[in-house]
Amino acid sequence: MATYFLADIHLAENRPEITAAFLATLAAIARDADAIYLLGDLYDYWLGDDLATPYQQHIAAALAALPCPLYYQHGNRDFLLGTAYAQTARLRILPERHTLTLGGHTVLVEHGDLLCSDDRSYQRLRRILRCRPLQWLYYRLPRALRLRIAEKLRAQSQARTRRKAARITDTNPAAIRAALQNARATILIHGHTHRPAVHRLDNGDTVYVLGDWRPHGEILRYADGACTLINSAEIIHAPDNAGA
Ligand code: MN
Repeated sequence: MATYFLADIHLAENRPEITAAFLATLAAIARDADAIYLLGDLYDYWLGDDLATPYQQHIAAALAALPCPLYYQHGNRDFLLGTAYAQTARLRILPERHTLTLGGHTVLVEHGDLLCSDDRSYQRLRRILRCRPLQWLYYRLPRALRLRIAEKLRAQSQARTRRKAARITDTNPAAIRAALQNARATILIHGHTHRPAVHRLDNGDTVYVLGDWRPHGEILRYADGACTLINSAEIIHAPDNAGA
């Protein structure tokens, strides 16, 4: 059996190749998964559970049909995904930082945007967007206005990322060390930066960075004491290795 970690699928109705790749990957990994972790930005944007579209309900049904537990963390794009949708999709929502044990190791999982501490303007915006009274107001707006706000935020975020140096929008090494230390973890798994890699730190800790999907993405598979970063396309094309 294996545990899988995925992030930054950025599902959207106008991205049918990504949707197909994601659903095919789920079907393939369900053969031997004992748990699947979705570490944020499952959706490219989320207007609110009350405005979930037939497309999003279709995804929820596919997720709910999986035989293993499904854990989910909010990303910076889908942080408004709420308990109503989570219930339909049988997603168990985890806090923004969560630890689990894999083969005796304490593993910290998070979306990754909190680790980009050099991006001060983003961190400021993040604090504002996550404030409850503001969200309460947002939910009272009509759909068209919510869509405009979401599109504006997305466009601004893309423009800012283009303008900023790559160093600014990447994770900060000190923030990573602090997060691992606070969690008493030796392994960190995150997404968000779209820079899939395995980093061995000086102190022996390991950081796995998951990839974004275009239409497939780098996901992490843990089995038999080993973590492997693998492109999801390789998994769906691999022969059935579930061992029945
Ligand atoms: Mn993200």
